[in-house]
Amino acid sequence: MILVGHQLAAGTAAVLVALWLLRSRWTHAHPRAALILWQITVLTLVVSTIGALLGFGLAPYQRGLVPALFDLPPVIHELDLWHSVAVVAGLALAGWLIVNQLLCLRSTARARARHRLLLQLVARQDTGALVVDHPIAVAYCLPGRTPRIVVSAGARRLLTDAELDAVLAHERAHARERHHLVVAPFQALRRLLPGSALLTRVCATIELLVEMCADDKAARQHGREPLASALERFHANGTAGTPAGALAVADTPVQARIRRLREPDRFGFPPALPLACVLVLTALATSAALFAVPL
Ligand SMILES: [Zn+2]
Repeated sequence: MILVGHQLAAGTAAVLVALWLLRSRWTHAHPRAALILWQITVLTLVVSTIGALLGFGLAPYQRGLVPALFDLPPVIHELDLWHSVAVVAGLALAGWLIVNQLLCLRSTARARARHRLLLQLVARQDTGALVVDHPIAVAYCLPGRTPRIVVSAGARRLLTDAELDAVLAHERAHARERHHLVVAPFQALRRLLPGSALLTRVCATIELLVEMCADDKAARQHGREPLASALERFHANGTAGTPAGALAVADTPVQARIRRLREPDRFGFPPALPLACVLVLTALATSAALFAVPL
């Protein structure tokens, strides 16, 4: 039961850090650091939840989780009902998460492949992006091994040259920094538990932070105002919706991004950040180590 207690403590630490992140205002000033902390925190929560279930279920063996799991098939009938249920629940949760992630990746890859084919038919290469002859203003990055930056004729008419350059830099930042890989695990978790308001909120937070990372990159190259005014124009015109698997320039709440670009947050890193980092990293290391350490 010591093992279960450690896993529950690790999970509690991850929940506390997640709640703190949700309430924090510094994250918009330092989106990259916030994203890294979010990734470690959610990974800790997942690993510790599975660890707690398996730890309870395999407690009678008094061994590490992995060694006990290897020996499990011949002796599983020795476990009582509650321990058996915990083992099955832990393994099912781990399998469910992995399968769901793979299914999400596959469906997104298929949607992107279909969209790439469509672009080959209707788009033409121009000014470092694929231009689609459509009146609605839209710009997005279609990620993949060879990412595509797509902009509509409507967007080119809507934006000045400086604004268009800033928008293209934003989309290239998505492609170069592979933001789709950051967002994908959170979107897969949301698909797994679609009714969870908390998970929906976390997902929206991650998507917004990713957009802010791309905004920062574009602002460093072309200044803040061109991107802010481009976002404003997109917002005033309304967006046409983004194809499945793409990252658009103006899909997330743009008002917060425009405000941030025009009045940059002066928040430094909060004093509690080192404590939160140490707490969640220790929790993850403990939780992962308990899978192998015999107790
Ligand atoms: Zn974007």
